[in-house]
Amino acid sequence: MENKIRLRFAPSPTGFLHIGSLRTVLFSYIIAKKLKGKLILRIEDTDQKREVRGATESLVKILDWVGLEFDEGPHIGGNFGPYIQTERLDIYNKNIEKLLKEKRVYRCFCSFERLQDMREKQQAEKLPPRYDRTCRDLSDEEINKKIKNDEKFVIRQAMPLSGETVALDEIRGKIKFKNAELDDHVLIKSNGIPTYQFASVVDDHIMEISHVTRAEEWIPSFPKNILLYQAFGWKAPKFIHYPFIANKEGGKLSKRQGDVAVEDFRDKGYLPEALINFCGLLGWHPKDDNEILSLDEIIAKFELGDMGAKPAIFDIEKLGYFNGYYIRHKPIDDLVKLCRPYLEENIELTKNQKKKEDEFIKKVVAIEQERLKKISDITEATKFFFVDDLNYEKDILAWRKMSAKEAQVNLSIVYKLLEKIPEENWTNDSIEDGLMTYLQAKELRVGEYLWPMRVALCGQKASPGPFDIAEILGKSETMKRIEKSINLN
Ligand code: GLU
Repeated sequence: MENKIRLRFAPSPTGFLHIGSLRTVLFSYIIAKKLKGKLILRIEDTDQKREVRGATESLVKILDWVGLEFDEGPHIGGNFGPYIQTERLDIYNKNIEKLLKEKRVYRCFCSFERLQDMREKQQAEKLPPRYDRTCRDLSDEEINKKIKNDEKFVIRQAMPLSGETVALDEIRGKIKFKNAELDDHVLIKSNGIPTYQFASVVDDHIMEISHVTRAEEWIPSFPKNILLYQAFGWKAPKFIHYPFIANKEGGKLSKRQGDVAVEDFRDKGYLPEALINFCGLLGWHPKDDNEILSLDEIIAKFELGDMGAKPAIFDIEKLGYFNGYYIRHKPIDDLVKLCRPYLEENIELTKNQKKKEDEFIKKVVAIEQERLKKISDITEATKFFFVDDLNYEKDILAWRKMSAKEAQVNLSIVYKLLEKIPEENWTNDSIEDGLMTYLQAKELRVGEYLWPMRVALCGQKASPGPFDIAEILGKSETMKRIEKSINLN
């Protein structure tokens, strides 16, 4: 028998994928896989004010980058298309006609000015903003006359005036809504385009969606959806509302695109596996508390019963932690490929052909691998390797209480010690050996030599260790940099 489990991800084409939407599609993907069902991509573009050109293509691209695949959608087709709502207008028309005939919905001819007036009065009286149902009981005659006169209209749902609507959420259980508080909301706008409320219910039914999975923010739409299913006489699907994603202060995630767009996380150098791992924990937690999880592991461990309604906290530092983890575990050649675009501007800084070669770049990436939180950090972190002539204040050569002059004296000793190490033996170990043997024998303070050496090699206070840097730079550049530091005025 065919498996009837069908879930959909139904984004509006806003031009970028919100991190909250990534969490939504991820859980829908996981549940679809878990239940051996299908995941459908549907583009909800009926709000044309918000539509951005090329948005569907960029959505498909970014979803592909995070590694989530669909079974049906505008990009791959399927038996339930079209998968873009503005290509389904005849379907909505046919379906609204049914409801008009049965008087479950009605035409509203109220002008924009009248509605605005009404809203202002409601506001002044501190009443909730709600349509006052003026057109709900127009006679057929009045309606026909207005249509003949070419008066513009919207179509509203005639909500029950009393009683309550009970909606079942798979996470929260039954949720009750007082019907008297529901608005006769618009289903079809005056330009004939449906609203989200109408199009999504019609599509979910016709596309045989078994589970409507979306964010908690949509709970206010829940009774409207249920009442629409009832008006049609259709069986409602199951509903799962994923918990709210809050920032650390408990509020909404920033509206600034740069802080929430998955495309921006990608461009800053967050890895898909880190984003997946991170989003997979926004509203669900594994029983064994082991939080480092691949997509397959999440699917294996996931249980809907473990999802709660408590807000999930978006902690960017945690994302950085996951990202660092996955960067550390990347095979070096893969990491070099990822870093390469971020290193181009550094590579351009150097005239030294050797530094433009793969071998050098690989060593530079390897030395930073442990520390990187995001791939884009590689640019700043490794710039000093490529700058042929470093510029820095000589004062930073001094360690703790020593003076710059003392640091320079110590650097001359370091210079002499390094000079003795033959070029063919220029490895991190032999450099360490050459310096440490001397310092220990003379009972000198290591920091007073290695700090100045390290600063001389990188021109900054923080960096990887001096022996590693020296090995990568090679003997002649190391000597050149130390010589320069000795002569700094
Ligand atoms: N188009 C809605 C959105 O932009 C989808 C809500 C739903 O999944 O039903 O988020």
